[in-house]
Amino acid sequence: MLKKTFFSLFCFFTALTILSFTQRDQKPIKTIIIDPGHGGYDQGAPGLISTEAQISLALSLKLGDKIAKEMPDVKALFTRATDIIPGNSRDKNEGLRYRADFANKSRADLFISIHCNAAGKAPGGWNERRIVGYDEKISYRGTGKKKRKIVTKIPIYETFWVHNHAKGTETFIWTAKESAHKGKMVGDHSEFASYADDSSIIMPENDPVINAMKLVYTKKYFLKSLKLAELVQHEFENTGRINRGVKQRNDIGIWVLHATGMPSILVEAGFITNKEEEEYMNSSEGQEEIVNSISNAVKKYLDGLDVPRKGNDAEVVNDGTSAILQNNRKQIFKKPVVLI
Ligand SMILES: [Zn+2]
Repeated sequence: MLKKTFFSLFCFFTALTILSFTQRDQKPIKTIIIDPGHGGYDQGAPGLISTEAQISLALSLKLGDKIAKEMPDVKALFTRATDIIPGNSRDKNEGLRYRADFANKSRADLFISIHCNAAGKAPGGWNERRIVGYDEKISYRGTGKKKRKIVTKIPIYETFWVHNHAKGTETFIWTAKESAHKGKMVGDHSEFASYADDSSIIMPENDPVINAMKLVYTKKYFLKSLKLAELVQHEFENTGRINRGVKQRNDIGIWVLHATGMPSILVEAGFITNKEEEEYMNSSEGQEEIVNSISNAVKKYLDGLDVPRKGNDAEVVNDGTSAILQNNRKQIFKKPVVLI
């Protein structure tokens, strides 16, 4: 009898040990939303040979393929996979809401929006005129003794070509002043919400403890977004691209970034208005390089890695989420060149 009990106990603990090892080895499936900017009747910024919507979609689909191949623990979902406004929405704003709602309903862990930047008066460049000298036009007024000579200066113009030279990559994270909105989304749609969904727990509105928890999650997501954005920019820089930094848009914010209850970034893959960058973003080599940069950053983010730091001036955040350099923080507040 004792032998039997001992054997049962032995089997029980062996099973428990195997189970705990299996659970430890199984990484949780992460869901990443890939959001190709614009689409359908909203083609975004035009280039010379393509539109922002086309490039964003091509890059997004390739990023999805790469994640499927190289990250078996990650599920990638698209807000659109064809040339439409997400959700076949009737207007742009409805489309933006659909993107965020889709991410929230999917309980995604990460949101990556892909866009192209634009600057200047026209893609490629434009003609301007400048004065290079003056001609004199002589005329006479009056007759006889009152006849006067009038010299009029007429400017000579030269037309010259202004190359649209703005180029490089930048990654946006949500604006700090939208924290309240992000906090609401975090409260409604995140891992925090799955805890709050437990019907046995009463979650009163405006409860200071709940509000404090939302704030902690919001801060955590901000740091995670910043960390991923820094990794993306670092990877771009490693391939020789110009790193314009991690930025925030301080005027009206970016809806998809602050309406999503998860860490979220918006990548500006390059300037479609720059002839060379547009060609690069349309080439298969360029697209591969851009997609590799983003997916390498995602891998490092999921592995808990940070951008390598020089010196020891990094500030380590107490939850261990990230190490942030002061100058990176300053960089965020650089004014973006153009609105998306
Ligand atoms: Zn855009």
